Amino acid sequence: MHSLDAIFKPRSIAVIGATARRGSIGREILNNLFANEFNGKIFPVNPKYEYIHSTKAYPSVASIPDPVDLAVIVVPAAQVLGVVEECAHKGVRGLVVITAGFREIGPEGARLEDAVIEVTTRHGMRMIGPNCMGVIDATPGVRMNATFSPGVPPSGTVAFMTQSGALGVAILLAVQKLGLGFSYFASVGNKADIGAMDLLEYWENDPHTQLIAMYLESFGDPRRFTEMSKRISKTKPIVVVKSGTSAAGARAASSHTGSLAGLEMASEALLQQCGVNRVSSIEEMIHVVQGFVGAPIPSGNRLCIVTNAGGPAIMAVDAADGHGLQVAALSEKTRAAMRAVLPAEASVENPVDMIAGAGPDQYERVLDLALADDQVDLAIAIFVPPLMIEPLEVIRRITRVGRAHGKPVYTVLMAEESYYERIPREVPDSVPIFRFPEDAVKVAEHTNNYRLWRARPVGKVQTFAVDAARVRSLVEAKGNAGGGYLAPADVHAVLQAYGFPTVGQTVIPIDGDLAASARGLAFPLALKVAGEKIVHKSDVGGVILGIRDEKALLAARDTMRASLAKAGVLSHATGLLVQEMAGVSGKEVILGIAQDPKFGPLLMFGMGGRYVEILRDVAFRVLPVTDIDAHDMVRGIRSYPLLEGVRGEPRVDVAFLEELILRLAQLVDEIPGIEELDMNPVIVTPDRASCRVVDARIRVSAPA
Ligand code: ADP
Ligand code: MG
Repeated sequence: MHSLDAIFKPRSIAVIGATARRGSIGREILNNLFANEFNGKIFPVNPKYEYIHSTKAYPSVASIPDPVDLAVIVVPAAQVLGVVEECAHKGVRGLVVITAGFREIGPEGARLEDAVIEVTTRHGMRMIGPNCMGVIDATPGVRMNATFSPGVPPSGTVAFMTQSGALGVAILLAVQKLGLGFSYFASVGNKADIGAMDLLEYWENDPHTQLIAMYLESFGDPRRFTEMSKRISKTKPIVVVKSGTSAAGARAASSHTGSLAGLEMASEALLQQCGVNRVSSIEEMIHVVQGFVGAPIPSGNRLCIVTNAGGPAIMAVDAADGHGLQVAALSEKTRAAMRAVLPAEASVENPVDMIAGAGPDQYERVLDLALADDQVDLAIAIFVPPLMIEPLEVIRRITRVGRAHGKPVYTVLMAEESYYERIPREVPDSVPIFRFPEDAVKVAEHTNNYRLWRARPVGKVQTFAVDAARVRSLVEAKGNAGGGYLAPADVHAVLQAYGFPTVGQTVIPIDGDLAASARGLAFPLALKVAGEKIVHKSDVGGVILGIRDEKALLAARDTMRASLAKAGVLSHATGLLVQEMAGVSGKEVILGIAQDPKFGPLLMFGMGGRYVEILRDVAFRVLPVTDIDAHDMVRGIRSYPLLEGVRGEPRVDVAFLEELILRLAQLVDEIPGIEELDMNPVIVTPDRASCRVVDARIRVSAPA
């Protein structure tokens, strides 16, 4: 038995606070339990009634003679704690607390919530809520609707969790119209006990659940969420609407990574990394769920469009362009067979335009031919009903062929309103129906991405031999001194300890002995200004490159002094950095870390150099970062082709770049206290031996 069975598989339910008053929550919940024919006993509890709904009512949970598995609590907030204690003594295992007035109203409510949790923890009870709209277990053996939502949600294979009760009601209503069925529904409210992780885990191995859909405002524990959904999404699609953004925006963004790590980046990166189908609206979520539940997952990305109208098919092709889908090239045999069943004016190129006269027979035969072509993995059937042709018969035929071939057929019906309502009743096993071509294409994009995700190897986190102790002591020392930017020599030491390729360098005071500083280094050299406050050195004339000899080095200092003075930052200069030039020219990339208050460290990779904030061509990941993540990250930026080499240029050492990403992930994972880290640029060349990090900054936080 799973501990959540206390909530979802009760044999008896007490509704505490049940009433006969029309429109009250206590009545609606009781009604729903009866209306859905809950497969167990129901005990209304309310001292003011002798019976409710022709059912004997009890003055308290203690006075119920039978055992009670689950209590649904709708009494006023002030009474909840007492009721929960009573339930504990009665031996109730599960609680659904609908009542609001807890953590969401402020400190006083939070104290009350903590007191309730103290009781449930002590007695090993599990709780949904408080401040929620209830739960549904629509699986055949249970049929429990303990919500106050109107209507009867059909039984099906979608498990749905929502952090917002109001949205929950809206979704329940919308899916009822579409005939989409649930296995479970949970409105989790304040998540005082049961949250997204518990439900994911509960539904992972549940035989009734084919797909998990979630409306989330926050992740709870992002790292656990990643690990769990990575695993689960390999067998069951997870569709997430993520709203709300992290609080990272207020962070001072002195590093490139910090300023690029916008609010959305963290959740986006996390969801992408764990194979979750992220959608941006409730509507899109419903569409994607329809697509997954009503059709098989495609086994490739080659799309055939069959239509009776040109415009919507063009819309579909446009929407598919650049989204991982390919317009299939039909074989000559397929086209010839199509030609034989279609009028001369029809087009048998993909999109196959059967023109307006096409009816049920043409849809059935042409789709049959399309799906039989082994160049086609999935189809979109578009039907704009002309007069005289019965839409439902067309839908029936499309469904029949689609099912026969086991390939997905997403259908676009652009018809009068009443047909959409008739379909769930009259074509109960219908292929997924959408109203607009873009919706169907979007769904195809999601199911195709999911196919790719499932085929993608799991990947592993790599560990390199590094000198972590050295770095830990440097970072700790800086933290204990109040935090801030590491000195250039320490930055150099950190990079070396973790195997980053650096260039030889010396740091001297601004009036220091330049000739001596250059002694251990090989010309040509670079001279740079050092100073915490000088973020972009080249902007103020603080970088002079390609210095050939000692004489030029001395002259460079004078030039730099003058430029710094002119820019008004001479007083910010704390020293000079004399650095070897990276031998070979290459592509400049950026690698960095920023800390998100909720997600922890974010890793960034992108095209580097001076224009990184303008190009914003970067990719983010949260920890853990696997070799597959690093592989995808490098290929995930728009400019990736530049790294592959254009116009006869050689390809840079991409494998080494991936290794550097993994080394950085290891660094941030092993060393707490690194607030920001930027390597910009890392000069990457075709050969790992000549790749170099030539500029880096590391900021350490003071210990909390
Ligand atoms: P900042 O980013 O503060 O302006 P950098 O140290 O990144 O200063 O230098 C600016 C640019 O100069 C780099 O993007 C790179 O193109 C070039 N550069 C800097 N140091 C070296 C070096 N040691 N070898 C080759 N090129 C360098
Ligand atoms: Mg730089």
